[in-house]
Amino acid sequence: MTKDAAFDTVIVGAGVAGALIAKHLTDAGLTVLVLEAGPGTSRGLDDYTRHLERFHAASAKSPESPWPPAVGAPQPDTTALRDNDGYFVQRGPNPYGSSYTRLWGGSTLHWLGVSLRMLPEDFRMRSRHGVGRDWPLDYTALAPYYGRAEREIGVSADVADQSYLGVTFPEGYDYPMRRVPPSYADRVLAAAVDGMPVTLGDEEIAIRVRSYPAARNSIPRDGYRPAGAVDIRTDDGPSVPPRQGERCQGNTSCTPICPVQAKYHAGKTLAQADRRFLTVRVQAVASRILVDPASGAVRGIEYKRYDDPATAAHTTRIATGRTYILAAHAVENAKLMLASGLEGPRGQVGRTLMDHPALYAWGLAPLDIGAYRGPQSTSGIEDLRGGAFRARHAAFRFDVGNDGWRASTGAPDTAVSDAVMARNLFGPALRAQLGATLPRHVRLSLAVEQLPDPDNRVSIDPACLDPLGNPRPVIDYRIDDYTLAGMAAASDVARAVFRRAGVTDCTDPSKGSWFPSVFYRGREFRYHGMGHFAGTHAMGADPAGSVIDADQRAWEHRNLFLVGSGSFPTMGTSNPTLTLAALALRTADRLVEELAR
Ligand SMILES: Cc1cc2nc3c(=O)[nH]c(=O)nc-3n(C[C@H](O)[C@H](O)[C@H](O)COP(=O)(O)OP(=O)(O)OC[C@H]3O[C@@H](n4cnc5c(N)ncnc54)[C@H](O)[C@@H]3O)c2cc1C
Ligand code: SF4
Repeated sequence: MTKDAAFDTVIVGAGVAGALIAKHLTDAGLTVLVLEAGPGTSRGLDDYTRHLERFHAASAKSPESPWPPAVGAPQPDTTALRDNDGYFVQRGPNPYGSSYTRLWGGSTLHWLGVSLRMLPEDFRMRSRHGVGRDWPLDYTALAPYYGRAEREIGVSADVADQSYLGVTFPEGYDYPMRRVPPSYADRVLAAAVDGMPVTLGDEEIAIRVRSYPAARNSIPRDGYRPAGAVDIRTDDGPSVPPRQGERCQGNTSCTPICPVQAKYHAGKTLAQADRRFLTVRVQAVASRILVDPASGAVRGIEYKRYDDPATAAHTTRIATGRTYILAAHAVENAKLMLASGLEGPRGQVGRTLMDHPALYAWGLAPLDIGAYRGPQSTSGIEDLRGGAFRARHAAFRFDVGNDGWRASTGAPDTAVSDAVMARNLFGPALRAQLGATLPRHVRLSLAVEQLPDPDNRVSIDPACLDPLGNPRPVIDYRIDDYTLAGMAAASDVARAVFRRAGVTDCTDPSKGSWFPSVFYRGREFRYHGMGHFAGTHAMGADPAGSVIDADQRAWEHRNLFLVGSGSFPTMGTSNPTLTLAALALRTADRLVEELAR
């Protein structure tokens, strides 16, 4: 087996977590090897454009549609999650409904870009609400890294909108770019809903429609200049007009692909890393962590390199470094540990898998609200993310959609086929019908918190292998009453919001028949995953209840770090990427201190 030259750090995975650490280590002059399982697509404009064309031609516009997997690096496919014939082996009572991308750039290739901070109370679920567990660090410790992550990723927001439920910012701080302007639909809904009281348990909470922080380029503040879009040359002249990728152009396809790269993806960070110190090896699937049995130190990472993404032919090599970082995302990190016989303290690796199971609510506004224009979503309702009610049921947040009923029913295609096939409309009558309904489509996405449950887990089974002979992830997943009660509360609030705004509620779970059902007190809910994998190698204050410490260092292997949302002990309601990016930057600082010694 061939052994590569040694690096200061070997990173597994070229997603946002791996890319941020690679950039910061190479900035400090440390040598980094990144092993990336997928092909190195998106590295040039032609390549990126081919993915865009693939998305345009796809009949099902799923998150993965522009990003096909290689034979050697298979990935979950949202259209096959439920049937259990995809990449995941689903063994639990409820299918796990999320996917990720195994390509250079990772899952940010197809993310939406919502970049919320966690609430201070999210870090203290056990002490504050008596459920879940506490983090080994708090909001104050992470706040400076949130600020840095917002600059690295390029987040557009105004501090004035984001200071709620205890979230604070240093004096004088603001986001690197102004907020993306709220859509017309946001403003219509806000006019009707702002100040509306919602009762959860004994609390009355006033809600409002609030613009959310987005990893989409808008108007920069104070000389900030977004960088890193593929094939975009930088020029620091003061009055150069914005180039491709420097401004959101409202194409409404953020998930799964931004045509102009105005949305952040991890390739942008890698493009800015110092090439003198960075080696990225694509089509290199890490398959085993090699550990010294006496000391527990990692001494190498075995990986399988394939030349042709269409076949499983490969050679096996070993990468060596002083430190090792698993940044392959929550499921793949856990799978790689387990495939190497590393189960962590008390067998905790792979356990407490979480997501934000989410529901859709959709309706028809009384007037045209300009649906199907602009970013898929620009605002949300965030006020129900925190409160004393979390002792009894899950918190939740709403995204307000600008993309009509696309996600919930497949409209506008389904609206057209329904008018033609079911109502026999054509010509002017068809145009009139579509013109009278499509611009009035309203959609809310209700994302619900989930607590850590050790039985929700990723494991491996020697009988279930992928074409390279690596294990496929076996998933056991169940949505418990805490989350189900949160779903019930969220859907009651959505109904009340529609009533207040004069929106005719058209929510019909049977229209989303491809989503799995769950039942709570006689009510049926159809949920989908949000792509928010978390908790499979949780951090903690001691090895009794965790796999890694607050620096994301493995308790049992002191030169090994596991990064990403798998490190979260609990996940609150914020979309995870900004928090995992902040944690990655914190770990990068620790590594620079340590390796530069
Ligand atoms: C549809 C969708 C929408 C989303 N929207 C949002 C949002 O709005 N806001 C938000 O915060 N989050 C969102 N997310 C989640 C977000 O995409 C992830 O949290 C984030 O991308 C995870 O970053 P990561 O670097 O940890 O992992 P990834 O981005 O998944 O990167 C992991 C990398 O590791 C590589 N890899 C995997 N296995 C191996 C191996 N064995 N060897 C070598 N390399 C390997 C992969 O190919 C990949 O490049 C969304 C997810 C989905 C699916
Ligand atoms: S709205 Fe369009 S241009 Fe803006 S980030 Fe989304 S896909 Fe890109």
